[in-house]
Amino acid sequence: MTQRNYNPRKRILVTGGAGFLGSHLIDRLLARGDEVVCADNLFTGSKRNIEHVLDNPRFEFMRHDVTFPLYIEVDQIYNLACPASPVHYQHDPVQTLKTSVHGAINMLGLAKRLNARIFQASTSEVYGDPAVHPQTEDYWGNVNPIGIRSCYDEGKRCAETLFFDYHRQHGLDIRVARIFNTYGPRMHPNDGRVVSNFIVQALKGEDITIYGEGQQTRSFCYVDDLIEGFMRFMDVPRATDGGPGYPGPINLGNPGEFTIRQLAEKVIQLTGSASKLVFMPLPSDDPMQRQPNITRAREHLNDWQPQIQLDQGLQKTIAYFDQLLSHE
Ligand code: NAD
Ligand code: UDP
Repeated sequence: MTQRNYNPRKRILVTGGAGFLGSHLIDRLLARGDEVVCADNLFTGSKRNIEHVLDNPRFEFMRHDVTFPLYIEVDQIYNLACPASPVHYQHDPVQTLKTSVHGAINMLGLAKRLNARIFQASTSEVYGDPAVHPQTEDYWGNVNPIGIRSCYDEGKRCAETLFFDYHRQHGLDIRVARIFNTYGPRMHPNDGRVVSNFIVQALKGEDITIYGEGQQTRSFCYVDDLIEGFMRFMDVPRATDGGPGYPGPINLGNPGEFTIRQLAEKVIQLTGSASKLVFMPLPSDDPMQRQPNITRAREHLNDWQPQIQLDQGLQKTIAYFDQLLSHE
């Protein structure tokens, strides 16, 4: 019997824990008393995101690339490691695919050896440029397999396949969440995602760069709401016969849908910026619409639904970037 079985606390591995979502998840896990191991190669994450927990005796940071196997002892795994913004995941597309696919194989292998529950941070990108709106989990998607977004989309789709094959073949207790656009403090200021880009541009008084005509839509979830969904999903107990719990996939996101132009106007209004809107070419394969149907999440996650609406979440995020930029 290993040492960890004597410890009533859970020991939880968070891959990608030095990133935006991972660092918020770690805060919540530590706050409820868990032990956390963060494995991250710091490609897009930063020690600054976790510096406030480095001295916590229940926290451990490992510089590790998930494309290589990892041998540690934990009770649960949250697999978040993967660059998430188009600028970052297109920087080295082959490495992005390896991170999703080899990373999933390595973390699933670890989960299988430990018989540990494992969560996968999948994405609304598995729906591609969706022909079904809003997106439900039974929609198979409309993804270009050879385009500039494919390294991310297909990597995440393949990871889902691996998770469900480990579930069927080995009875592994998996939890697959499809995350829709999420924003909040600790987003990387230069990662090119729309919320961080617009806020940073507005605060610096620079032009707000709208790609295309800004009529494409996204649905934006504030980070705290999302992390609540992660933890509820991971805490759904095993089936009464001892079999795995509900594997998903479950959409997690805020159904409030906005055009990119509306988002730009909101950011200008909330920052009081004098920035002007400028229109630039739309990148290829940029989805035209995206909105989660969250019926399944409400059903399985104790009526989970986002509590923080866009204006309120933007205000908190603007305050974060305002402080960050004032220290530059
Ligand atoms: P992020 O870039 O801030 O975090 C990703 C983390 O993974 C970073 O700390 C990075 O250094 C680490 N990482 C990357 N490659 C790695 C590797 N090979 N080995 C170890 N660590 C590695 O992005 P995020 O927004 O926090 O996203 C976290 C996860 O959630 C990702 O898997 C992403 O695909 C998924 N997701 C996020 C969103 C969103 O809107 N934020 C939407 C859908 C899915
Ligand atoms: N976008 C934009 N201006 C920017 C950054 C992004 O108009 O400065 C658009 C982008 O083309 C896309 C949407 O905003 O239609 C969301 O982009 P993001 O990269 O944040 O997320 P994703 O496309 O992966 O949903």
